Amino acid sequence: MSKTDDVQDDWQPIDRSTCIHHADRETEFICTGCEEVFCRECVTEKMVNRHTFHFCEQCGCRCESYDPTERYAFLTDSTSSSDSFFNALMESWKYAFNPRGAGVVIGGAVFLLVMGTLSMAPLVGFIISIFVSLYVTAFIPQLINASADGEKDMPGWPDTTYFSDDIVQPAFQIMMVTAANLAPALIYRYYFMESSGGVDGIYLCLFGIGLFFLPMNLLSVTLNDTMAGLNPVFVILSIAKVWKDYLLLAVISLGIGGLIHLNAFVYQIHFIGIFLGNVVSLYLLLIEMRMIGLLYYHNRLSLRWFSESPSR
Ligand SMILES: [Zn+2]
Ligand SMILES: [Zn+2]
Repeated sequence: MSKTDDVQDDWQPIDRSTCIHHADRETEFICTGCEEVFCRECVTEKMVNRHTFHFCEQCGCRCESYDPTERYAFLTDSTSSSDSFFNALMESWKYAFNPRGAGVVIGGAVFLLVMGTLSMAPLVGFIISIFVSLYVTAFIPQLINASADGEKDMPGWPDTTYFSDDIVQPAFQIMMVTAANLAPALIYRYYFMESSGGVDGIYLCLFGIGLFFLPMNLLSVTLNDTMAGLNPVFVILSIAKVWKDYLLLAVISLGIGGLIHLNAFVYQIHFIGIFLGNVVSLYLLLIEMRMIGLLYYHNRLSLRWFSESPSR
């Protein structure tokens, strides 16, 4: 009798009702990595803003609150291994093609259209455009987090109840990461290039390096929820661990960046152009952030990010 037969003969539903370390304690958390279940004392707690996150002490992945009736994506999803990362990326294009996703994109485009019109008003217009930039940017970490947790549904637009914690702080973090990636190229262009109108080899190199690291930097700062996620040693080691998937993501991200650039032409169509342009921009942004989150989801056991913090 082979080993697999043994397993099949003894097969029975997995009992996840008690902590694997404490048979007398009820399960409160399930790990998204090793899929083990724990009591409250067997997970590490980390408080970020008003949200508490829990991490597995044995594999370093994030834990979710356990509910025996829930079908967890990471347990039922056979596509979570890294060899199917390409398929997951291709699936991402459909992320907005369902009632929920379409609602988020179309609702967002209408919101941008209205706000864009209001922002032309004198004085308050400037404040409105700042609000809109912060609000849309604050959606980015929500998208990355949801996809990194293996959630299939798109999250809704951010809540504005706690404006500083839920909008300003996360948006500022994303803006800082983007600025840090593009700063070397921009500083070179404005202070060191002979003719600031064109481009040269060094500028293209710096710009390319910034774009190459941007997805991992966004992922690292978002999931670790600290600017310390930019630590180049941590980022380069992380890329090295998942380099094949990362190269794939980088190439596709470059393509999406190109499409966003081309989308500027859609805005030139009269009447409907601004609305259509907003739909396309939002759609491309959502897909890109979904793909960045999926890089973590598909490689969480290789990255093992939460077994050690990047700031340490
Ligand atoms: Zn674990
Ligand atoms: Zn326990």
